[in-house]
Amino acid sequence: MSLANAHPFGMNAGGWHFSHGIEALGVLNIPSGPPVGEQHIRDVIEVWRRVRPDMYRLFGNVARTYADAARAMGLGPERDLNLTIAGDHPSEQYLMASSGLEALPLLGSACDERDGAHLAEDLAIVEVIDRRTGRPRGHGERGNLVVTVLEKDNFLLRYDLEDVVRWNLTPCPCGETHRRLFYEGRVRDLVPVGEVEVLPIDVALVLYEFPEVSRPSAEYQIVRGRGPSGALRVRLEYDATAGVDAPGLTRRLGERLRERLGVRAELELVARGGVPRFAYKAARVVDG
Ligand SMILES: [Zn+2]
Repeated sequence: MSLANAHPFGMNAGGWHFSHGIEALGVLNIPSGPPVGEQHIRDVIEVWRRVRPDMYRLFGNVARTYADAARAMGLGPERDLNLTIAGDHPSEQYLMASSGLEALPLLGSACDERDGAHLAEDLAIVEVIDRRTGRPRGHGERGNLVVTVLEKDNFLLRYDLEDVVRWNLTPCPCGETHRRLFYEGRVRDLVPVGEVEVLPIDVALVLYEFPEVSRPSAEYQIVRGRGPSGALRVRLEYDATAGVDAPGLTRRLGERLRERLGVRAELELVARGGVPRFAYKAARVVDG
């Protein structure tokens, strides 16, 4: 079995851990790093064309970059590279990454219920804390992930990872009794709008209800103002060539965002390609 990945290699990036892990499993590792320029992208695609990896592990925007480049080279991503883009919808991503496969490594593990990652509560004391009051959060509530590790290695004492997580405290039908947690995003990506704090996943889940702005993928940026804001500012792409009624679409999106998030939205629709692409994780929040 072979597996291609495009994680970066660096002190805090996943390339080393990922590579060591899959090599320990006896899988042929095909690391490429994130796409960094046209020649590199072409070289990576040529390797994939020759090897035809059995599996790929790529961030959605990275997979799209490679797939688009392969098409431009006259190749079919699926036919020639065995590359299919699946699970790009944020609800799928939410279930996979948020339920522990990636975002809570060592600390949590997913089960078949896919409704949060079970924490390794024999390894660590996990708290979810309201960062303003310091008080613990309850079922369904968001807060900062604060961890105390009980073993000798990597000892942490009430370390705040500045990750935003959410409890699922209901008993799990799988039988595992350790509590479950969802990963929601980073504290630095919280966007205050009035009394509400919005994360990119909140916006993405609404955008993906609208095919006009989410096919083939939702490309958007939340613009965070310097001071308190009464509106959620989002710049997002739509297909300007498909005869979409832009004012009508803006109104419907605004209504849905208000309904789902309880905030007023100021939306700026831009043509496809108008929002920057990223080689690794996309920056969905920019300071305006
Ligand atoms: Zn379970």
